[in-house]
Order: sequence, then structure tokens, then C-alpha cells
Amino acid sequence: MKDAPYIGRFAPTPSGFLHFGSLVAALASWLDARAVNGRWLLRIEDTDPPREMPGARDAILTSLERYGLEWDGEVVCQSQRHDAYAEVVERLFNMGLAYACTCSRKQLEGYGGIYPGHCRNRLHAREDAAIRLRVPELTYRFSDRVQGEFQQHLGREVGDFVIQRRDGLYAYQLAVVLDDAWQGVTDIVRGADLLDNTPRQLYLQELLGFSQPRYLHIPLIVQPDGHKLGKSYRSPPLDIQQATPLLLRALRALGQDTDPMLEGATPAEVLAVARQQWKPERIAQQMTVPEATLQ
Ligand code: GLU
Ligand code: ZN
Repeated sequence: MKDAPYIGRFAPTPSGFLHFGSLVAALASWLDARAVNGRWLLRIEDTDPPREMPGARDAILTSLERYGLEWDGEVVCQSQRHDAYAEVVERLFNMGLAYACTCSRKQLEGYGGIYPGHCRNRLHAREDAAIRLRVPELTYRFSDRVQGEFQQHLGREVGDFVIQRRDGLYAYQLAVVLDDAWQGVTDIVRGADLLDNTPRQLYLQELLGFSQPRYLHIPLIVQPDGHKLGKSYRSPPLDIQQATPLLLRALRALGQDTDPMLEGATPAEVLAVARQQWKPERIAQQMTVPEATLQ
């Protein structure tokens, strides 16, 4: 049987170095693509300059290269895509699907992060306002390759969400959906911290007439001390000297077999074997790494 066309991607935010948790996500996404001879794209999600860490972008690229996680084509940076985002915000606003919100942070306190709809029918001008997307009173559901069925009621559990901030910056939800569609991404493999963002992205895809990619959310790594390796965790860059042992450890975290013979191998050799043996169905829904993972 001919391999189906597969386009995967890794989309790090340059707010810090890659850490073990992001290595696991990058590796899973790379293997899932390469196991079927698919393409694997790299996109830098630099939509929020204040949260960026100087040097992070280059450090991420260097780590991926040194770990053998080669990407296809040019690196796309979201900071270069503002025109595309602006065009869609404009369209959604003009169609009445999105509206301007002038609520202060204080006015939104006490609603548990769910927008109470103050500005829904106010017809504020776009200037000096955030732009929110009106969500339908509907449940969005999808079947995740690891996490199984996931559903969320957009009205009750999320509320109208921001697609462009008051300071003009574009929201992750908007940028990610537009870019995945623009780049033809068929498969999204990423951390489970983004699982509950997915229904918002499904809604945007539906509104904009995009097809829905397949999803595989990798469980977050829980350290033996109970600490979750998430985005906010500032950690040192992945040690280049430790590429092989850390790749093997990441493979074990993903439930894959690792041959002890590979301990002396190069990262490229480890990846060549792992790609042949990739079994995504072995990924557990929860992942506790018994070994210390920070260097
Ligand atoms: N930029 C996001 C992050 O670093 C990932 C986005 C995605 O994979 O959808 O958490
Ligand atoms: Zn408002």
C-alpha cells in the first residue's frame, strides 16, 4: 500500500529553551511523520514578543539539529504572517462572527476565565479593543489518537475567546489554525496541555472551511517529585553531549522499546531505528518518568 500523504509539524514558542518535555513532543511528532515517510515542518510561534526569550529561537533550531530532528523546507515564523491573520480577523469582524471587547481585566474577574459576554451586543468600534470570537452554544468533540474522545461545550466551558488582543497581538488560537491549514498539516502531535484548546480550534476550522487534522496529544511528563514539565517551566537548554541518552529516555517515556546496543549510537542512528519501530499505540495516557529527566 502506498503511504498516505502526511504533513506534521513542530510549533515551539520561543519563550524558552527546549526541555525534556518538549523534546518528547518533538520526537513523537517527528517519528509519527517519518514512520510513514511524511513531511515534518518547523514553525516558530513568535506571536507574543514580550514573552520571548532572546536567543531562544536559534537555540531551539540548534537543539533540533543536534538531536537529529531534521525538518523539511523553510522555517516559518508567525511574526511574518500578520497580514494573513489581519485579513481573517477583519473578515470575521465584518461578518459579525467576532466583535470588539473593551472589558478591563478587573471587569472579567470572578467568571472563572469564561467570558461573561458583556460586549457581545455592544457594537464597539475596533479601535483600542480586543476582538473576540462569538462561540456557539454547542459541544465540540473529537477523537484523539491517545487521549480518546474529548469534548467541550464552547459556550459553557470556554466562552467567546480572544483572537486579537487589545495591544494588537494575534492570539495563538487564530494563528495556529490559519497556519496549520496554510501549511497543509494533516497531523498534529503536541502536548496534552493543549488538549482543551482543541475544540476552539475545531470551531475556527469549521468557520473558515478548513479540513480537520488528526490529533495526538502526548501526556505531560510528571517528574518523580510531581512537577509537571510544562511551558512555564524555565529549564536549561538540552545538553548537546547528552543527545543519545536523552533521545533513548524520551523514547522510553513514549512507551517505545530501546535496544541497549543503541547507547553508543549517534542521534541519527537512534532515530533511524526508532522510526522503523514507531508504535504510537504504546503511548500511555499518563506519563510518569521514573528516571530523573533534568540534566
Ligand atoms: N506554540 C505552542 C507551544 O509551544 C504549540 C502549539 C501547537 O502545537 O499547537 O505550546
Ligand atoms: Zn468585553
